[in-house]
Amino acid sequence: HSKEQGRNRFSRYNRASHSRGDADLALESALRQALDRDEFHLVYQPQFEARTGNLHGVEALLRWNHPQRGAISPSVFVPVAEEMGVIGELGRWVLRHACRQAVAWREKGLHNITMAVNVSVQQFYGTIDLAEQIRTILVEKGMAADRLEIEITESLFMQNIEEMRANLQRIRDLGVKIALDDFGTGFSSLSYLRKLPFDTIKMDRSFVSDINQGREGSALAITILNMAQNLRKKCVAEGVETNAQLTLLRDAGCDYIQGYLMGKPMSADDIFDLSQQRTAEAS
Ligand code: C2E
Ligand code: MG
Ligand code: MG
Ligand code: MG
Repeated sequence: HSKEQGRNRFSRYNRASHSRGDADLALESALRQALDRDEFHLVYQPQFEARTGNLHGVEALLRWNHPQRGAISPSVFVPVAEEMGVIGELGRWVLRHACRQAVAWREKGLHNITMAVNVSVQQFYGTIDLAEQIRTILVEKGMAADRLEIEITESLFMQNIEEMRANLQRIRDLGVKIALDDFGTGFSSLSYLRKLPFDTIKMDRSFVSDINQGREGSALAITILNMAQNLRKKCVAEGVETNAQLTLLRDAGCDYIQGYLMGKPMSADDIFDLSQQRTAEAS
């Protein structure tokens, strides 16, 4: 391990603030070993262009298969990794694997798809220079910067908004796209829209599921879409599960859709097969 990683591993490791249960502690020690033991893998959920149904890209989603406890959800272990100070290391693993996969697909003939990667806001603090790390990985893997999209969730840790703006801008200067994930659920959403440089709004799943509840239910989804258009940003709707949701989102001008209706998170091979089916259907 490099010096940088070694330091980050422990510097933010602080459990003085509150006492934690045995379950958390067991998870922590397991998480420390998981990277070395190769217990992580990525799955990929397809994102489609709403208007044409073409495959637009994928979102890489992290999976942890614990040898005894089985699959553990990222919503459980990512926050623990953040708190432990290992999110920098884990995030770097994710970026490298996702970029390597994108290039592997390209070599098999699957071009022009975007690879979206979740980046925790904590990762900015657990890494000396995230933009430089991303640049290095892109060069190392031979990946075009504009095929990569970073998904950032609004979070309380964005306290220092000016610093975050500068960090994101440096990543964007590489040509990498930036998406605001889970849009509408976090803190001060609307002011972030003005202050942070980004390309894409990812409408949170809760607004999509409300679409089932009649006209008022779809009001917020439509408002977010209108706002994205007025700001000249792309909009992705996540968690699309029904045809009614799909139709409403498409007709209201949503650019991209993602959800169980069109495809669950799947293996890299399944994404490739799916892309071939689509090509066959189109020709
Ligand atoms: P997210 O980035 O908002 O990812 C979308 C989540 O919604 C994924 O859950 C996905 O499987 C799920 N989803 C997609 N379509 C549907 C649908 O139609 N219905 C329902 N009910 N759910 C749907 P997942 O994979 O469990 O990930 C949960 C969260 O964990 C992610 O939310 C993200 O915040 C975090 N996460 C996952 N992978 C990574 C990673 O590599 N790094 C970081 N920092 N966080 C990650
Ligand atoms: Mg995401
Ligand atoms: Mg998220
Ligand atoms: Mg999300």
